[in-house]
Amino acid sequence: MLCQARLTNYHKTKTKIGTQTKWNATYLKLCDKEAMEGSDLCARCAQRPTSARNQITMIHGKLSEEIPYTSRIYGGDWYWDMVQQYGEPLDKQWLELAKQAQLEGEKRAGAKAWRIPEREAGRLKEKKKPERPVRTKEEIKPVEQEEAIDEMPPKKKLPPAPPSQQLPFKPISQLMQESSEEPKMLPTDRQKLWKENGVWICETGFTFAVKEDGGIGKFLGKN
Ligand SMILES: [Zn+2]
Repeated sequence: MLCQARLTNYHKTKTKIGTQTKWNATYLKLCDKEAMEGSDLCARCAQRPTSARNQITMIHGKLSEEIPYTSRIYGGDWYWDMVQQYGEPLDKQWLELAKQAQLEGEKRAGAKAWRIPEREAGRLKEKKKPERPVRTKEEIKPVEQEEAIDEMPPKKKLPPAPPSQQLPFKPISQLMQESSEEPKMLPTDRQKLWKENGVWICETGFTFAVKEDGGIGKFLGKN
């Protein structure tokens, strides 16, 4: 049995698709080697990369398989997508050779052959879908909000806080902490402090020595 690899010469068989100048299509080239025993590929083709960008070295699937999207061979999905976008190759002779090559491949693969699906050729006849109307931001917003709701569980509504707790900021409950620095009283601090038994005591229970001038001295500990 001859090797069932789908190959291409690329440089010898490439052609521009439609009127653009960037993208080339190519067509099928058959491998002329015998398949290995117990395999439908020859030793060389069995080693070929399957998804390389290099159209010449890669194997574009077997003749019984569909043409992968990484392939630029005539008849694959990539080819039809490009044709839909840019039109068929302008070289009509190339088109004939490409179709001929596909038929030769089908012959070699016999009953197992992959054929270009009817729907693919039909795709070209399909009318272009009308373009989506451009939506304004206002129109897009509600959809995005709906999606966000789908992703996140709905927030539980908390009962409104009593008026005394409705402060525009979080009340500071602790003003002084043990640190290498001496605790400082800041202008924004609202901690209650009082002198008792010769020490300063604050409402969190911290005690401080009384300075000679009567101010807050060294941190002594927590009650
Ligand atoms: Zn081969």
